[in-house]
Amino acid sequence: MKTYPYDAPIMSNDNRIATQMNIEYAKAKMPADLPRAERLMVEENIKQLLKAHNAVLVAHYYVDPFIQDLALATGGCVGDSLEMARFGQAHSAQTLVVAGVRFMGESAKILSMEKTVLMPDLEAECSLDLGCPADEFSAFCDAHPERTVVVYANTSAAVKARADWVVTSSVGIDIIRHLHTNGEKIIWGPDRHLGKYIAAETGTDMLLWQGSCLVHNEFKATELMQLKEEHPNAKVLVHPESPDSVVALADVVGSTSKLLQSTHEMDADTFIVATDLGILHEMQKRSPNKRFLAAPTAGESASCKSCAFCPWMAMNGLKGIEQCLTQRSGEV
Ligand code: SF4
Repeated sequence: MKTYPYDAPIMSNDNRIATQMNIEYAKAKMPADLPRAERLMVEENIKQLLKAHNAVLVAHYYVDPFIQDLALATGGCVGDSLEMARFGQAHSAQTLVVAGVRFMGESAKILSMEKTVLMPDLEAECSLDLGCPADEFSAFCDAHPERTVVVYANTSAAVKARADWVVTSSVGIDIIRHLHTNGEKIIWGPDRHLGKYIAAETGTDMLLWQGSCLVHNEFKATELMQLKEEHPNAKVLVHPESPDSVVALADVVGSTSKLLQSTHEMDADTFIVATDLGILHEMQKRSPNKRFLAAPTAGESASCKSCAFCPWMAMNGLKGIEQCLTQRSGEV
């Protein structure tokens, strides 16, 4: 079996500590659930504000279900990061309100430079983005000038600017296979699990930055096998940001959109889902008679850091959306 040079530098200790502190900060900053009457009032106000500001709400699958529903009810969209950015680009609204994490706001802005992009909380980060500082990543690339630099969309605009290619999880394999056919060797950042998966699928020589997603990194293979034994007819859906031991147990491996599509295309009534649990809202809406189980995130005697909920996605709240529209704040 071919071995790949999985020996890219680990992120600096300062960065690791900063990332851990940011997780705690995000958890402390998550908005509380609103009482029903107040929520309805805020939602109504947001509807008026969107019209008054010629704005549209674009939301990620992992944010609060009330925000997802509001986006759809007001003519916006719910999607993955690329779908969000493309929807914003094609829409006639001059202001895009992005409910997601900061790199998603940046991606929307990159595709719609002439539009105003607002976010409910600009401090909504991502462990992949935090774990890949542009200066450290750039130095890593400089040390391997013979390699083509490919980065995942879950990075800052500064890291994207250093790359030769930017890919999403839905097109990563095709792009890397194309580069491999041309004889190119790759530097991949920032998610090591996704990079390892693509390297194995395509046989490409890839040097991997050692970042990971807080949510997907925590899924556990042994506990997943036990859950499969309890539900032998269930199909297992896994996002490739998960460890390879978890990917190996999957019936479907793919982007958030591919996993979602599988739930209504596959002839199964139970699914075990290894991605952020925010996606279950849309899965259940599309297939109300099917059953969705969360893949285990903590091994025996262990506790989970995210428990399959991204703390930065959870920083998006209805009040924050109302505020960014009222005050024109949180501009990307
Ligand atoms: S779920 Fe993972 S990849 Fe997505 S924003 Fe959160 S930390 Fe980043």
